[in-house]
Amino acid sequence: LLKEYSAHGKVSTDLYDVQSGPVPNASSLKPNEVLVHVRYVSVDPYLRMRLSGVDGPYSRAFKVGHPISSHGVGEVIASTSSDYKEGDRVTGGAFPWSKYATFDVTPEVAKASGFSKLEGVLAKAPLEWHIGVLGMPSFTAWYGLNVIAQPKKGETIVVSAAAGAVGQAVVQLAKSLGLYVVAAAGSDEKVAYLKDELKADAVFNYKKVDSYSATLKGLCPRGIDIYFDNVGGEFLDAVLEHVNKNARIAACGAISQYQKEKGETYGIKNVMSVVGNEVRWEGFIIMYHYKSHYEAFVKDITERVKNGTFNYKLHISEGIETAPQAMVDMMSGKNFGKTCVKV
Ligand code: NDP
Repeated sequence: LLKEYSAHGKVSTDLYDVQSGPVPNASSLKPNEVLVHVRYVSVDPYLRMRLSGVDGPYSRAFKVGHPISSHGVGEVIASTSSDYKEGDRVTGGAFPWSKYATFDVTPEVAKASGFSKLEGVLAKAPLEWHIGVLGMPSFTAWYGLNVIAQPKKGETIVVSAAAGAVGQAVVQLAKSLGLYVVAAAGSDEKVAYLKDELKADAVFNYKKVDSYSATLKGLCPRGIDIYFDNVGGEFLDAVLEHVNKNARIAACGAISQYQKEKGETYGIKNVMSVVGNEVRWEGFIIMYHYKSHYEAFVKDITERVKNGTFNYKLHISEGIETAPQAMVDMMSGKNFGKTCVKV
């Protein structure tokens, strides 16, 4: 449960109360409710904004005294709805961080929270795939690269936070499309993984270089055609010094700014490079694009997984009581792969 808001600065585990209570009783379900054994919940950077107490353009602040929630997946153990039965696998964007949860599955309510039954090929996939390989960040990578960046073979792409949930998928997809991939991450272990396992063409540990701009200049001899931006701030500003004409920036996130103290956020200086190079700098929020593109994503990614050309690394934290620490670790780069909690 959320104990208090944190408007600025680094998140800590003190923001939460971990409580125990009885498992909800199947006989107390109201009409059109399901009781779900929650199996995995996702830990994502956008939750930082929801902990600040301020509603954002696309996400609402959590309420003090209420559970934190995020994408999740689980199994129905009791149901009063004719649409759901015991054993059905379900997923949604508002799974509370708890071992068990009841959901109102009246169609309008379920639709509003993205709650649904996994059917067909999705029901057969391992449960953790719905957080991992078929999960929201993997879809973000696929959509941001294909639809926003519209890559052409031979172009140079720079990817930041490249070993994380979104980044690792961008790197693999970009390589498969014949792009020259330059990947940045914050530890030598992550950089080695990007180079050796994901086969990025050039890599660097952004925490160990003196200048982002000089490093990018050296690693991108033909300039930058695409920047998949996960971090914003100073890194984005450095990229703008080296973009080619008609470059595309997929503005996915700005994690370097999410934990800044009040008044400390970085102001981009090289905006005229966007104008002069006719750069398309386009933001997107993935939850608005499920209806139009999720099916195509699933088809493409499951094919790649079957061929052995797409691997997705999970960073699994065991036990729901570890979720607050998993959030702190993810925001500070201690995760290696997509952070989730195995409930
Ligand atoms: P990750 O799994 O990549 O975890 C976050 C990573 O960010 C950390 O591991 C760390 O990696 C890196 N990081 C933390 N602080 C900084 C910093 N100050 N400077 C640079 N890197 C930092 O998270 P996701 O893949 O889930 O998210 C990546 C980005 O994508 C975020 O900005 C997120 O908000 C955005 N996003 C946007 C979506 C959309 O719809 N637009 C949907 C999903 C995600 P390292 O060790 O390399 O520093």
